[in-house]
Amino acid sequence: MRVLITGAAGFLGSHLCEKLINNGHEVIGMDNFLTGDPQNIAHLSGNPAFSFIRHDVSNFIFVPGKLDAVMHFASPASPNKNSPYGYPNLPIQTMKAGALGTHNALGISKANRAIFLLASTSEIYGDPKEHPQKESYWGHVDPTGPRSMYDEAKRFAEALTMSYHRFHGINTHIVRIFNTFGPRMRLDDGRVIPNFIQQALRKEPLTIYGEGKQTRSFCFVEDLVEGIYRLLLSDTHEPVNIGNPFEMTMMELAAVINSMTNNTSGLVYHEAARLGDDPERRQPDITKAKNLLDWEPKYSLEQGLEITIPYFKQKLGIA
Ligand code: NAD
Ligand code: UDP
Repeated sequence: MRVLITGAAGFLGSHLCEKLINNGHEVIGMDNFLTGDPQNIAHLSGNPAFSFIRHDVSNFIFVPGKLDAVMHFASPASPNKNSPYGYPNLPIQTMKAGALGTHNALGISKANRAIFLLASTSEIYGDPKEHPQKESYWGHVDPTGPRSMYDEAKRFAEALTMSYHRFHGINTHIVRIFNTFGPRMRLDDGRVIPNFIQQALRKEPLTIYGEGKQTRSFCFVEDLVEGIYRLLLSDTHEPVNIGNPFEMTMMELAAVINSMTNNTSGLVYHEAARLGDDPERRQPDITKAKNLLDWEPKYSLEQGLEITIPYFKQKLGIA
C-alpha cells in the first residue's frame, strides 16, 4: 500500500512510519514540526520506501499519485500547561489539527477512495465515571474546560470520521489510544514518563502533580503500533481502544522509575502544575481489540522502561 501518515515526525507517527515500511508499504510522511522533531525520521531519509512533505494539515492536503491509506496522527498530544509543546499552550493549533486537519485528511482519503485511520484518544472519555473504559462509554467531558481544545477536537474528529464512513462509504477506522510511552517522546513536552525519567536520571526528585493517587495505564509503543496496524487492515469501523490495561497510580509509577534508575531523591508535590479536569482514573477495557484484532500488549511496564530509559540517557548525554 501507499500510505500517507500525518504527524510523521512525532513520537507515534515516526514509529508507525517504520512499522509500515518494515511491512513492505510505501510511506509518505507529513508534518509541520509543531511538536515533532525532524530527528525522529532522519534515519528514514534515503529509504526509497519513504518520502516527506512539510505541510500544516489545517490547510488543504495535496499528495501527488494514488494513495491507498491515510493515517491521521497530526496533533499536539501533551496536556502539560508548563510546556510550550503542551496543547493548553497551543489551543488553536490543536483544534485546527483535530477539526480542519481531520477534514482535510478525510478529504484526501475520499478523493483516493483510500482507507482512513484516525488517531483518537482516551481523553474523549474525559474524567470518566465508568471504569475501566469500554468503547460504549460516552464520556464525561467539559466542552469549555481546560482540556476542551483537545478532547472536543478529537470528539469532533471521531464524529466527522463516522460521517464520512456512513455518508461517503469510506473505509474508516478509529483508534482510541491510551497513554503510550517509548523512545522518541519529546524530553520537554511535559508528559509524565519523560518528566519522571529525566528527573530520575538527573538525580532530582520526581514531580508529582496533585496527591499522585490518580491512575493511568501505560502501553509500550511497540505494542501500540502493532494494534494500530491490525486495526488498519481490519474491517472494523467502530472505535477500538488500544492500550495496556495495567493500571497504576502516579506514586507507584514514580517508585518504579526511581528504583530502575537508582534515584534516591524521592518525590516533590506540585499541586499548581496539575491541569484542571485531570482524569482521576484511566484504564482501557481491551476486550474489543482482543476479539476483533486478536491483539493484546506483550511488554510489561518494566520491559518498556528498560528500552526507554537508555534512549533518554543518550538524549541527555548521560553515560
Ligand atoms: P507528538 O507531539 O510526538 O506528535 C504529533 C505530531 O503531529 C508532531 O510531529 C507535530 O509536529 C505534528 N503536527 C501537529 N500539528 C500539525 C499540523 N497542523 N500539521 C502537520 N503536523 C502537525 O505526539 P504523539 O504522542 O506522537 O501523538 C500522535 C497522535 O496520537 C496525536 O493525534 C495524539 O492525539 C494521539 N494520541 C497519542 C497518545 C500518546 O500516549 N502518545 C495518546 C492518545 C492519543
Ligand atoms: N503528572 C505528574 N507529574 C508530571 C507530569 C504529569 O504527576 O511531572 C501527572 C498528570 O497530572 C496526570 C498523569 O501524570 O495525572 C499523566 O499525565 P500525562 O501528562 O502523561 O498525560 P495524561 O494522561 O494526563 O494525558
